[in-house]
Amino acid sequence: NAPLSEVDPEIAAVLDGELARQRNTLEMIASENFAPRAVLEAQGSVLTNKYAEGYPGRRYYGGCEQVDVAENLAIERVKALFGAEFANVQPHSGAQANAAALSALIKPGDKIMGLNLAHGGHLTHGMKLNFSGKLYEVAAYGVDDKTYRVDMDKVREQALAERPQVIIAGWSAYPRQLDFAAFRSIADEVGAYLWTDMAHFAGLVAAGLHPTPVPHSDVVTSTVHKTLAGPRSGVILAKEEFGKKINSSVFPGQQGGPLMHVIAAKAVAFKVAGSEEFRERQERVLEGARIVAERLSAPDVAEHGVSVLTGGTDVHLILVDLRNSELDGKQAEDLLHSVGITVNRNSIPFDPRPPMVTSGLRIGTPALATRGFGAAEFTEVADIIATALKPAPDTEALSRRVSALADNFPLYPGQEQW
Ligand code: PLP
Repeated sequence: NAPLSEVDPEIAAVLDGELARQRNTLEMIASENFAPRAVLEAQGSVLTNKYAEGYPGRRYYGGCEQVDVAENLAIERVKALFGAEFANVQPHSGAQANAAALSALIKPGDKIMGLNLAHGGHLTHGMKLNFSGKLYEVAAYGVDDKTYRVDMDKVREQALAERPQVIIAGWSAYPRQLDFAAFRSIADEVGAYLWTDMAHFAGLVAAGLHPTPVPHSDVVTSTVHKTLAGPRSGVILAKEEFGKKINSSVFPGQQGGPLMHVIAAKAVAFKVAGSEEFRERQERVLEGARIVAERLSAPDVAEHGVSVLTGGTDVHLILVDLRNSELDGKQAEDLLHSVGITVNRNSIPFDPRPPMVTSGLRIGTPALATRGFGAAEFTEVADIIATALKPAPDTEALSRRVSALADNFPLYPGQEQW
């Protein structure tokens, strides 16, 4: 029963180092968040010891009476949170949820139509090296080359020409809301299923601050660790009629034993996501993103060739367009890293640079909102980023401003180690 620091000091040092890194820097990767202590407790628990193949009440192993309670709570809570008829909480990750959703709806060789990866879609929506691009025929739609938004008239035209079996609504890098009712009507017109992947914006939906795709979609998948701030994992919601197929497509179709420690942590996260405190936090997420978008659109930044794609944001992220800047995405990411702000470079639609370099940055506000940031702090962080992206920034001065913000909003206070 020796502690980690004794059994494996090298890994203990990684945990300590990572806790310090998360505390001392400003996390603005749009897909990341800080899971609350209660989630980490459930996830780092004895439930990891338990095999529970099957579903609550119908397991292939004995001794499942406790984990059944956890899984039933996770299912009931996520159904209530999103108003869903059916939920499967077993997917190990977002990608696995997506693989299971597709295999429940269609068969290999059928056609899927999702947002092009280069325009903000996800790997699992039909990228050629991913299972989705290998198993299914792919017809991707893109954003408009002037507005950088998804144009539903064009999606309809393409769907009528391509006749996909599944239309995918959802994105990993898109700063606006999608029109789920329009997707539904196009899916109906061409006889396709509508699958929405709300991995990024699920927390906003849970808080009632973003239109919900649930009533419009046949199946909705999500990760639990982005705006939802739960454990790293996935979930599938659906109309009741798809429930049986989805269950069998997750287990035994895609996975073996469910990660019961993670499922318990999901239950905790879904409970938290139904709280007033969570709703208030998502308001700060949106407010922060609007503040950063506005500041990065200001004339003193624009004159150096930096702009914000679509001119703003409706969600938790901003896409910065660096095509006219002296900095490429990699340089800008490194520069912000050097002052203590973590973001990721991101291809933007019609990007002239390769994916390892890119002409864009994706900047998100969920993690800092979880840390407690409000309008004043987001204004300061927006100004730090804007100053960094202009020529010849004083990076030492900017680092000090980052440290001051980090120190004022302690992460996991009182926690010595993890
Ligand atoms: N779907 C979308 C829209 C995503 O953005 C992501 C993650 O980036 C995923 C699915 C995959 O989630 P995971 O990394 O848990 O497999």
